[in-house]
Amino acid sequence: MIRLVKQVNIWTKHLDLLKNDRIRLLFPRIICSIMPMIELYSDEYFMKKAFEQAQIAADAGEVPVGAIMVCNKQIIAKSHNQTELLNDVTAHAEMLAVTSAANYLGTKYLQQCELFVTLEPCPMCAGALKWAQLGRLVYGAEDNKQGFMQYGKELLHPQTKMAYGLLHDDCSLIIKEFFQKKRTLSR
Ligand SMILES: [Zn+2]
Repeated sequence: MIRLVKQVNIWTKHLDLLKNDRIRLLFPRIICSIMPMIELYSDEYFMKKAFEQAQIAADAGEVPVGAIMVCNKQIIAKSHNQTELLNDVTAHAEMLAVTSAANYLGTKYLQQCELFVTLEPCPMCAGALKWAQLGRLVYGAEDNKQGFMQYGKELLHPQTKMAYGLLHDDCSLIIKEFFQKKRTLSR
């Protein structure tokens, strides 16, 4: 156990070194080969991908929420809100991601999966994530009006891990701008 902790500490130190510009200049080749690997598997990388989906939604006139389902650090589903296109109030990004992931994996349970979504899920989506027994939920911006957290984390499955606040400002701003634009157009 102590050996493992030491190993983790060494790794952490390496990661800190890689972030140092001077070290990067000294060892460009090594850094080039290692940096993409670190970037690829980070929460931030996946949240950026979810944010790209939110941008696609905004361009299509949909409420800009994007989601990415990840299994074993691989993206297995990408989705964005499509309630307008499908004329379906249940076509939230999370619902579509759950269905796509289940189809891809051939199983209805998603204990091995992580969902990255730009906005705090609503209670309907939290319910779907509970039924799917999702492994981990990561969301960007909070939704104080429609978000599930006003009812508590209990809406999720007890085994679901949770994190939030990643790319918070971008995820929040895209929603605010969308509704501001909508209000301006309706005047
Ligand atoms: Zn929802």
